[in-house]
Amino acid sequence: MKKLFSGVQPTGTITLGNYIGAFTQFTALQNDYECVFCIVDQHAITMPQDPEQLRKHIRSLAALYLAVGIDPEKSVLFVQSEVPAHAQAGWIMQCISSIGELERMTQFKDKSDGKDSVSAALLTYPPLMAADILIYQTDIVPVGDDQKQHIELTRDLAERFNKRYGEVLTIPEIQLPKSGARIKSLQEPTKKMSKSDPNQKATIRILDTPKEIEKKVKSAMTDSEGIVAYDPTNKPGVSNLLSIESALTDVSIETLVQKYDGKGYGDFKASVAQVIIEHFAPIQARYEQLINSSELDDILDRGAEKANVLAKATLAKMEDAMGLGRRR
Ligand code: ATP
Ligand code: MG
Repeated sequence: MKKLFSGVQPTGTITLGNYIGAFTQFTALQNDYECVFCIVDQHAITMPQDPEQLRKHIRSLAALYLAVGIDPEKSVLFVQSEVPAHAQAGWIMQCISSIGELERMTQFKDKSDGKDSVSAALLTYPPLMAADILIYQTDIVPVGDDQKQHIELTRDLAERFNKRYGEVLTIPEIQLPKSGARIKSLQEPTKKMSKSDPNQKATIRILDTPKEIEKKVKSAMTDSEGIVAYDPTNKPGVSNLLSIESALTDVSIETLVQKYDGKGYGDFKASVAQVIIEHFAPIQARYEQLINSSELDDILDRGAEKANVLAKATLAKMEDAMGLGRRR
């Protein structure tokens, strides 16, 4: 069976963007691939994090993976910092990266833009991400298109490593979701929705209450035209809401536009909000059962154990190929 890797940062409760761009794919894929799902807390600390909040987010994210339908019998679910081979292989990947190629990453540019001082790790984030993927000899990485550039770099680094030190690493393929690849911020619909966005009105979170969801969708930025039509360039707000409903219901955008023909934005928004609320209800119920359970800790313990075995095996091959340490 082919291997799949995915990592999500515990930087806040996952958003509708994360859910559509990443989580909806996971549950389907776990039947066809050997899946490794990683809570990448070491990536989270490239930006300042409150320790107590970080711990909370790690646990909450783990519960959400399970609540959306990840089956720990089929897939490996674990926390990155509990598997030291990630950081070890990350260092190796940094050593074969150049500063120039890392500075060209749009995420680095976006997250460092306008800041006086950012951590060095914000720049070296992609080599760690490459290590996360490569130490599991991953065949495919399902991500939203915001991560495409990082996966391309991962492929470059793996090819570079293999060329210099011999065929050790599998070159991973990127898999983008078919529709709704990039969900936009509700307040600035030209920007992507991000879980670390400080503007609470910009994101819908998977644990939001029905009231919060209604309020946020109602105050989503649209335009003054009053016609529900799909036109991402001129009507990014309305188009974003259409993409959301389409992704959650599997109904085509074309059909949705017909459904809303002659309706105003008030009705349109109320209906989109309802779709989101109904979609999230069963996930939220399962989350409540898991969040304070010891079952959750047992699953994460077993996940880290399995991940350690897999990751150590590749790390040993990498170190051996490079001549690190002594021959064993
Ligand atoms: P942060 O602001 O901390 O970077 P994020 O919302 O971008 O948070 P990540 O942890 O970076 O979330 O990414 C988790 C997964 O969600 C990735 O697979 C990413 O491609 C996907 N993703 C993130 N934002 C969106 C979005 N707006 N639309 C679709 N997919 C997204
Ligand atoms: Mg991100």
